[in-house]
Amino acid sequence: MDYNIDGLAPVVITNKIEITERVFIYQFKRAFNFEAGQVIGISVFDNTDEKMPRMYSIASGNNDELVSILFNVKETGWLTPLLAKKEVGDTIYITAPSGNFLDNNESAFWIATGTGIAPFHSMLQSGSSGQKTLIHGARKLDSFYFEDSFLNVNHLSYIRCCSQEEGNSIYFGRLTQYLKEYNNLPHDQKYYLCGVPEMVVEVRDILIDKGVPYQQIVAEIYF
Ligand SMILES: Cc1cc2nc3c(=O)[nH]c(=O)nc-3n(C[C@H](O)[C@H](O)[C@H](O)COP(=O)(O)OP(=O)(O)OC[C@H]3O[C@@H](n4cnc5c(N)ncnc54)[C@H](O)[C@@H]3O)c2cc1C
Repeated sequence: MDYNIDGLAPVVITNKIEITERVFIYQFKRAFNFEAGQVIGISVFDNTDEKMPRMYSIASGNNDELVSILFNVKETGWLTPLLAKKEVGDTIYITAPSGNFLDNNESAFWIATGTGIAPFHSMLQSGSSGQKTLIHGARKLDSFYFEDSFLNVNHLSYIRCCSQEEGNSIYFGRLTQYLKEYNNLPHDQKYYLCGVPEMVVEVRDILIDKGVPYQQIVAEIYF
């Protein structure tokens, strides 16, 4: 990829999928290597004069032909309302991938709310090994993004927590409540947390309260 002086390179949107209201997956051709769990910066401009790119976890596998990004529109935010207006064939600008929120390929807990599921989807699609327990929290039943990929995976125990709607095989309540009721959380596994700061802080406190050593907790905070 040819990154300009501001560290940005153009990519053309090849697919735009609205998976629920104002939640999109954008895809573009992959012309760089990355490790599952890493992020890229995105902007609708080719420079950082006015605004810095916003960060997005790559949601696709590291060998996939297309890179996928999952985002929800913050109506009063800067980038996402502009990004949502882009269509297939339009150009957006990305930074090189970065970040250390990487799979350990061992048994681990993956804990996400909302679009924080993206790096775990990338890890799964990239051939993650080890027994994983994935706990995903969402308000609505249609917000378990990528759920078809996570269902019926042998080495994955997939728990969906829905706080506002009841559904089959779905825990009715917040993810944090589910964790509070979870007995015997292992103390020797890593806990990967991804989502908004409030969730990460609350889950961290619950885990520590349940005896999980602080060093076992790894967080990617969507601030
Ligand atoms: C490592 C990392 C990875 C991320 N990955 C993803 C991802 O995969 N998917 C995803 O959807 N998001 C992700 N995010 C979040 C993403 O980077 C953006 O923050 C998000 O999309 C909102 O961008 P925005 O420019 O539209 O909104 P912003 O302009 O950043 O505003 C966000 C919110 O803050 C409010 N706000 C802005 N300025 C102020 C202010 N001065 N006072 C009070 N409130 C204010 C806005 O009204 C809005 O509701 C990630 C963040 C990080 C750090």
